[in-house]
Amino acid sequence: MDILAHALYSATLFSRTGLAGGARGPIDAAGRTRSFDWTIWAAFGFGLLPDALSIGIAILTAAVKGHLFTFTGIPAFTFELYHWSHSLVAAGAVSILIRCLWKPLFLSSLAWPLHILMDMLTHGSGRFQTLLLFPISDVTLNGINWWQHPSVVLLYWCLLPVLWFGIHRCRRRTHQPNPHHDTARGPGHAG
Ligand SMILES: [Zn+2]
Repeated sequence: MDILAHALYSATLFSRTGLAGGARGPIDAAGRTRSFDWTIWAAFGFGLLPDALSIGIAILTAAVKGHLFTFTGIPAFTFELYHWSHSLVAAGAVSILIRCLWKPLFLSSLAWPLHILMDMLTHGSGRFQTLLLFPISDVTLNGINWWQHPSVVLLYWCLLPVLWFGIHRCRRRTHQPNPHHDTARGPGHAG
């Protein structure tokens, strides 16, 4: 899956404004609207982290050395980093640690395992195949390489607005005023 889609799926599913915020959305426990939802940016960050910690480091290393990064000349250490950063074992351990240390960040941290599961579906066999339980096991699933199949890219991009629409509808229904409550107050009630 491309990096922009990773970021958007992460914020859509694992921020308080997105699906994981449930029906309340960007409204806090006291009923106030949050002017700034930092969990969106945290989810973006965790959604990009697996690639930043592997391919990102390779791009940075090439830049420092004055080389142009190419996918044909990726150094071997990048694949070691890639397997670690795309392992549910590593991502799960970090999420559990965050849950213990600072609970508000836990929700956004789940964007990391989401990235791994989405790569599992959109990466086939080869150097960038997702080894789900690395280093314990090399269990994997043969996904479809998104960079070779535009229909896969089209599918996951079309699914995003459907998700947004679903969240919007669900939230609107939850926030509609209760007609029974208004009727109970009676027509003569003036304030
Ligand atoms: Zn990835």
